[in-house]
Amino acid sequence: MDQLPIFFNVNNRCVAVLGGGIAAARKAELAMRAGAQVKVFAAQLCEEFGEIKESEQFRFVPREPLAQDLDGCALLYCASENIEQNRKVHAIAQEVRIPCNVVDMPELCDFTMPSIVDRSPVVIAISTAGTSPILGRMIKARLETLLPAAYGRVAAFVGRYRKKVGSSLESFHQRRRFWERILEGPVVDLVLAGHQAEAIAEFDAQLDAAASGAEHRQQGEVYLVGAGPGDPDLLTFKALRLMQRADVVLYDRLIGKGILNLVRRDAERIYVGKLPQEHTVPQSEISRMLLRLAQEGKRVLRLKGGDPFVFGRGGEEIELLAEAGIPFQVVPGITAASGCAAYAGIPLTHRDHAQTCIFVTGHSKDGQIDLDWKVLLQPRQTVAVYMGLEHLAGLMRSFIGKGAAPSLPVALIDNGTRPNQQVLTATLDTIAEKAAKAGVKGPAILIIGSVVRLREKLDWYVPEEQAHEAAPAAAPAAE
Ligand code: SAH
Repeated sequence: MDQLPIFFNVNNRCVAVLGGGIAAARKAELAMRAGAQVKVFAAQLCEEFGEIKESEQFRFVPREPLAQDLDGCALLYCASENIEQNRKVHAIAQEVRIPCNVVDMPELCDFTMPSIVDRSPVVIAISTAGTSPILGRMIKARLETLLPAAYGRVAAFVGRYRKKVGSSLESFHQRRRFWERILEGPVVDLVLAGHQAEAIAEFDAQLDAAASGAEHRQQGEVYLVGAGPGDPDLLTFKALRLMQRADVVLYDRLIGKGILNLVRRDAERIYVGKLPQEHTVPQSEISRMLLRLAQEGKRVLRLKGGDPFVFGRGGEEIELLAEAGIPFQVVPGITAASGCAAYAGIPLTHRDHAQTCIFVTGHSKDGQIDLDWKVLLQPRQTVAVYMGLEHLAGLMRSFIGKGAAPSLPVALIDNGTRPNQQVLTATLDTIAEKAAKAGVKGPAILIIGSVVRLREKLDWYVPEEQAHEAAPAAAPAAE
C-alpha cells in the first residue's frame, strides 16, 4: 500500500485554502461539507464560489497566508493557479507542520484527495495513489451504480440503534449475529423503500426476540424477480441485489447461464422448467415449493424471464404466499417485447406508424387462439405476440382470414438480446415458411406492423459471436 487510508475529522476545525479558482472552490466546498471552518486566501474569488461564500463556515482573506495564519489549521490545500505561489505557501506549511495538499503536484502532497462515493454517513474513498485519477473516477462510477442511493438512510437508521443494541445484547457474538441478520433482512428493504414505521416495528421485534434469547427462526421470504429477456446487462440493480442474497433459486428454461452465474454462488439451484421426460413442473407445484421453502426460513428467489407480471403467471405464484402471510417482493424486468424490439432496431411505437402497441399471447390449448380480433386489427398499431412460434402458420392464417393485409410486415425475433439472436423479417403470408426454413427453435417473439420496416434504417445490433464469425479469417500467426 502506497498511502495510509484514513478519514479525517475536520468538523469545526479550520481548513485553509490557497487560491480563488475552480479547483480551490471545490476543495473549500468539500471541506465545508465535512463541517470545517474554511479560510480562503486569494486575490479574488471566481464565480464557482457562488453560494458557499455566503455560508457562516466561510471566510475570505484577500492576501497570501502567513505562517501565523496557518498555524493551528487542520489542513491546507494549495490550489492556486500560480504554481510558484503554491510552492511558496507549501514551504510555509512545512514550517508550521500542517498537512498540505498541492493540486497537480503529487510530489509535494502530504495527502492526496480520493474519488468519493458519498452515501453519508457511509463514505467510500478511492485512491490510485496519484497514478490515475481517471481510473479512480471510473471505479467511483461503478460503485455509484452498485450502491442504492438510499444506503445512507440505512446507515443512519442502524446508527440510531447502536447503543440500544449494545445494552440489550451482552455478548459480542450475539451482537454480530444480530446485525448480520438485520443488514441482510427485511428491515433494510423497508428502509430502502421508505417505510420507516414498518422498519422500526420489524427492528424492535427482532431485537426483543434476540434479547429474550428466544431461538430466532429466520423469517423466510420470496423474491419474484424479472430477469429480462436474456442479456445479463438488462437486469435491474434490485434484481442483482436480491440474486446476491438468495439461499435458493427456482429458475426455468428462459433463464440463461449468464444470468444464473450472477446468483449467489452458494445458493441452492432448483430447475423447474421442463423435466427430462418433457413434463413441465405444474404451476401449482411451483407455488407450493415457494411456500414450503419460505416456511423453512429460506430467502427464496424465483427468477422469471422478462417481467414476472407479463405472461409470467407471477400473480399465481404469489397468491399462495399472500394467503400464508409470507413476505414477498416483486421486481419488474424488461419484458421480451421491449428488449427484443430494441435489440432488433424496431421501435414499438412511432409517430408515423403506430400510436398503440398491444401485447398478446399466441398460446392456445387446442390450436385455436382466443383473441379479440377487432382490437387486434386496429390500424396504426403494433402487435407483439408472445408464445406464437408453436402455431405460427395457423396464427398468421388467422390474421389474414380476419382481414389483415397479407403484405403486413412481421418480424420474428428468436433468442432476442442473447448472443445467438436471430431476426427474420417477412410478411404475414411468408413468415411461417421462412421461420421453418431457418429452423427457429425459440424462445421467439413476433412483432407485427409497419414499424418493422424501420429496422432497415435503425438496426445496429451485431451479436458479439456473429461479429466474430463475420470477421474475415485472420492470417495464420507466424510461427
Ligand atoms: N414474462 C416474460 C414472458 C414469458 S412467456 C416476459 O415478460 O418477457 C414466454 C415467451 O416470451 C416466449 O414464448 C417468447 O415469445 C417470449 N420471450 C421470452 N424471452 C425471449 C427472448 N429472449 N427472445 C424472444 N422471445 C422471448
